[in-house]
Amino acid sequence: MYFAVITIFPEMFAAIRDFGITGRAVTQQQVMIECINPRDYTTDNYRRIDERPYGGGPGMVMMAQPLSQAIDDAKEQARLHGCRTDSKHCPVVYLSPQGRTLSEDSVLEMADYDGMILLCGRYEGIDERLLTQYVDLEISLGDYVLTGGELPAMVLMDSVIRRLPNVMGDDKSAVQDSFVDGLLDCPHYTKPHEFAGMAVPEVLLSGHHANIAKWRFCQQVERTKARRPDLWQAFSPTAEQARWLKEQSR
Ligand code: SAM
Repeated sequence: MYFAVITIFPEMFAAIRDFGITGRAVTQQQVMIECINPRDYTTDNYRRIDERPYGGGPGMVMMAQPLSQAIDDAKEQARLHGCRTDSKHCPVVYLSPQGRTLSEDSVLEMADYDGMILLCGRYEGIDERLLTQYVDLEISLGDYVLTGGELPAMVLMDSVIRRLPNVMGDDKSAVQDSFVDGLLDCPHYTKPHEFAGMAVPEVLLSGHHANIAKWRFCQQVERTKARRPDLWQAFSPTAEQARWLKEQSR
């Protein structure tokens, strides 16, 4: 999958390109992350990408012209890397507090794209005309405001990359995580057998796979009911899960 990131701080992306599972996905060429700096598309000696807002007020606004050329270039790069560059296969995504909140469902949809062009805002934001003309999708991390779109872009890329086939050491581990089946994840334990006076639940040492699966599911249910009743209300169990729930309530 190809990612072009339009950012005035390309160095920040070493965090996702050089470390952990995302770093390995880059090394193994499952993913390509390319940063494009809008300053490279400015025409003045100071390489300005921001100006004062029309109408006055505090702060600066990112100008449309360097960003539009950076996006055009990103689309060309995406095409050269084999992406279909229409909005359905390689959308231009603006990371914005005003966008749709990122969710595991939308992450899974995005993992099907050929690529994405991620636009990172700074200052008060971006000239509205650029957004109207170029942006296909706005994605928010949540109802709070950050200083720039770089961290949200990295969060989005991390969440999408880990859902690509063969990226995780074991593809099953992404499927067992919170939200994937509509519930929160169950608790996990590892060595030592006892820590701070607490032992690992016996069932996990039993080697009885069916009992372990049932115990984990029941733990997921308890957690989800307690912490995210909204998720629990929307959850519909499979036939086997419904049987486990019935057995549990006896
Ligand atoms: N004036 C804008 C507003 O109130 O909607 C906020 C601008 S913010 C200081 C600068 C940039 O950070 C934005 O252009 C956006 O790219 C990014 N940003 C801030 N909060 C975000 C969030 N919750 N989700 C995604 N991106 C965010």
